[in-house]
Amino acid sequence: MFRSLTSTAAPSVAAATGQAARGFAAAAAARLDFALSEEQRALDDMSKQFAREVIIPVAAEHDQTGEYPWEVIKQAHALGLMNPHIPEAYGGLGLGGVESCIIAENLAYGCSGIGTAIEGPALAEAPIIVGASDEQKKKYLGRMTEEPLIASFAVTEPGAGSDVAGAKTTAVKKGDDWVINGSKMWITGAGHANWIFVLARTDANARTGAAFTGFIVDGDTPGVNVGRKEVNVGQRASDTRGITFEDVVVPDANRVGAEGYGFKLAMAAFDITRPEVASGAVGLADRAKDEALAYSLERKTFGTEIFNHQDVAFRIADLETGVQLGRLMARRAAWELDQGRPSTYYASMAKRHAGDHAMHAACEACYIFGGNGFNTEYPVEKLMRDARIYSIYEGTSGIQRLNVSRLMRRAFEAGANPGGPDA
Ligand SMILES: Cc1cc2nc3c(=O)[nH]c(=O)nc-3n(C[C@H](O)[C@H](O)[C@H](O)COP(=O)(O)OP(=O)(O)OC[C@H]3O[C@@H](n4cnc5c(N)ncnc54)[C@H](O)[C@@H]3O)c2cc1C
Repeated sequence: MFRSLTSTAAPSVAAATGQAARGFAAAAAARLDFALSEEQRALDDMSKQFAREVIIPVAAEHDQTGEYPWEVIKQAHALGLMNPHIPEAYGGLGLGGVESCIIAENLAYGCSGIGTAIEGPALAEAPIIVGASDEQKKKYLGRMTEEPLIASFAVTEPGAGSDVAGAKTTAVKKGDDWVINGSKMWITGAGHANWIFVLARTDANARTGAAFTGFIVDGDTPGVNVGRKEVNVGQRASDTRGITFEDVVVPDANRVGAEGYGFKLAMAAFDITRPEVASGAVGLADRAKDEALAYSLERKTFGTEIFNHQDVAFRIADLETGVQLGRLMARRAAWELDQGRPSTYYASMAKRHAGDHAMHAACEACYIFGGNGFNTEYPVEKLMRDARIYSIYEGTSGIQRLNVSRLMRRAFEAGANPGGPDA
């Protein structure tokens, strides 16, 4: 049918068909473009160079000592690699999600512990960007752009991590102030935090979506007691601590958004930061793959480089496939965000895949290094220790699966696309 139409019957129709097909192809090419823009490429080059020249040379030392990487943080801040989302109106660069993913991936390639130290404040800033007043943004986001400061996001508690709704920290209204009591656990950057976003229960009886409120608490407020630095198995350059709040008085001016809006704020923050965490995991997996590839082309057994043994080469090919997939998924999630749409569906899939693949890739790299992979003189055991966290923080892989499956069910029942309207 198509042949007869184009070859004999109606040249004008054939021409029109060809034209339409070309037009269609051009439109399709314009809409689905995997290339980075010139600015994004420059950011990619600059952050890669930063990882190579500034992070990698000091990564092993920070891993061994656990010393906080202040010197690296200062340089990252000076180059605009910190606080990517802060809008220009508050002194920031107002970068999009895709740009933030590019930075996150490259920093984590250098050292994901140092990357987490640099990027931790972005999680605290996210609920402020989403729900704070102009005055609060000027005060608390503005200062983050002026000097290298740390801010923390305090949601998790000793008894409530995945189940945020189980958080017990309370904030009680007293006149124009709120009084916060409770304990938070596993708070990134807490030992250095200039301010802390705190999620507290403000209504004992309300349903989860209305029971919590977010507050900005200055780090030096009396009653804020920061615990010792936790001795974690990986990402040891990052700072993780518990915080107790004992009758901490916070002015109502530091309430973020309406009373009862806190849970939604915390979840909205994850939509912004999960694509970046996924990108960090991609960076680590990429590093593991590169280390394994380089080693496999040097190490010989049975008279040849181990890369020439198919079992080794295929493992490396699979690592690369997982890296590419994770990069696409993380950037898709960030792109959704940049289009002003909820990214939860894509962000959860990206974080689940990239987090689990980081662990897999680091273990595979250790395997390909043989006995050397089990030794601290070689770089890959650190990657394995560092990778473990990616499927735990900012929601475990199980919680990401829960998000995806719930959205799938909801969409199925509504006859819709689980990721929202098709792009
Ligand atoms: C290094 C580090 C840094 C962190 N930084 C921060 C931070 O800055 N701010 C902050 O607020 N929190 C932070 N966290 C906390 C982190 O987000 C939580 O540890 C994480 O959400 C898991 O909670 P949990 O530790 O209470 O584990 P649990 O919730 O007790 O989970 C234990 C296990 O049960 C599984 N599980 C639980 N519920 C379900 C379910 N419904 N379906 C399927 N599986 C389930 C989990 O997947 C996990 O495997 C950090 C944690 C670490 C270790």
